[in-house]
Amino acid sequence: MKINEIFHSIQGESLNAGIPCVFVRLTGCNLRCKYCDTRYAYNEGFEISIPEIIDKVDDFNCNLVEITGGEPLFQEETPLLIRKLLNRGHVVLLETNGSYDIRIVDQRCIRIVDIKCPGSGEADKNNFRNLKYVTLRDQIKFVVGSREDYDFAKKVSKMTKNSFPQNSILFSPMNPALKPEELAGWILEDHLEVRLHLQLHKIIWPNIDRGV
Ligand code: SF4
Repeated sequence: MKINEIFHSIQGESLNAGIPCVFVRLTGCNLRCKYCDTRYAYNEGFEISIPEIIDKVDDFNCNLVEITGGEPLFQEETPLLIRKLLNRGHVVLLETNGSYDIRIVDQRCIRIVDIKCPGSGEADKNNFRNLKYVTLRDQIKFVVGSREDYDFAKKVSKMTKNSFPQNSILFSPMNPALKPEELAGWILEDHLEVRLHLQLHKIIWPNIDRGV
């Protein structure tokens, strides 16, 4: 596999925010979102086998592991890596851009599925069938940069099946395009039950771009 970085930090996103976590950042992505903050992961990286990745994860002595990118499902071996980590007893999160069919990933994994809003420039790549495939363990995430994005996210979030918890739908303000208080105001005005989602690691380490 090709890996960009493996590091230990505080989980800054998702319903698991605030918990220590090992991050495995995979190289490569099939999209080019306008706001992407991990462009360094498009190509930079080193070749490593799955057993070597597991050894490096073990070195951190941490139960929570996130597989991120780039786009992790860009590499065919990612579902196997996830399964092996799950079989070792890890809680595994997958951050995926929502263009791939999430059914290729073990349902024991917590899949955080992006739905790309118009402001990303990649909304035509969304695989909306994933809205049917999410389980109660999974989460859906929208990065919202404008009122147009918000209206899109509001509409799409209502397309999830009734059983899917609305507070597992994350609305994340795009920094610096949209202030958190503006997004909070819209959510309250519309009585949505989605979760306002801030990137905790950027609050803790505002001047560090990598490895946090
Ligand atoms: S999917 Fe993620 S890694 Fe890929 S371009 Fe968009 S923001 Fe960047």
